[in-house]
Amino acid sequence: MADAKGGEEKYFRDGAKYVCRKCKSKFFTKVEAEKCHDSHTE
Ligand SMILES: [Zn+2]
Repeated sequence: MADAKGGEEKYFRDGAKYVCRKCKSKFFTKVEAEKCHDSHTE
């Protein structure tokens, strides 16, 4: 897997959860967090 932007993650971890970096929404899976993040850009 290649990172699109110099290794910056679309989410960060908060305990067991994944948090969208854009809107700080919390998800139980990283796929959901990445989808959320993608929904904010383009
Ligand atoms: Zn989001």
